[in-house]
Amino acid sequence: MQDCIFCKIVRGEIPSAKVYENDSVLCFLDVAPAVRGHSLVIPREHVENILEIPEDMAAQLHEAIRRVGRGIIQGLKADGFNVGMNNFQAAGQVVMHAHWHLIPRFHGDGLQLWPQYKYDSDEQMQDFARKIASALS
Ligand code: 5GP
Ligand code: ZN
Repeated sequence: MQDCIFCKIVRGEIPSAKVYENDSVLCFLDVAPAVRGHSLVIPREHVENILEIPEDMAAQLHEAIRRVGRGIIQGLKADGFNVGMNNFQAAGQVVMHAHWHLIPRFHGDGLQLWPQYKYDSDEQMQDFARKIASALS
């Protein structure tokens, strides 16, 4: 993908602060971190989102996420880390090259990632579960 910013990073046309790489995966720091050390794990190959990732690539990405997660815990002395992914524009995906955000977390850092609401009733909750379950593929 000629214009994709992450493909340009993969090709070395744009500099990045690399954390980890192998034949199929690259990890570098997010230029606008939620917390310093915020890392992005991406496949080298351009795929848009999690639904397009083949199984063998998924396994390599999962391995890299765990590896970088351990690096964040040990290298930054973090107490934990969030793994997040935005899929499609409505979910906040800005760069249309699939990527996982790894955000270092520290006890008491106060970072709030998402709000929490309630269902109107148990029935409504079951209805949402049914709608998703009936459309699995
Ligand atoms: P998204 O909202 O698509 O899930 O996240 C894209 C992320 O890529 C953002 O957090 C943004 O800061 C990061 N980003 C965008 N352009 C660049 C860049 O050129 N270099 C780096 N290192 N990160 C970028
Ligand atoms: Zn790309």
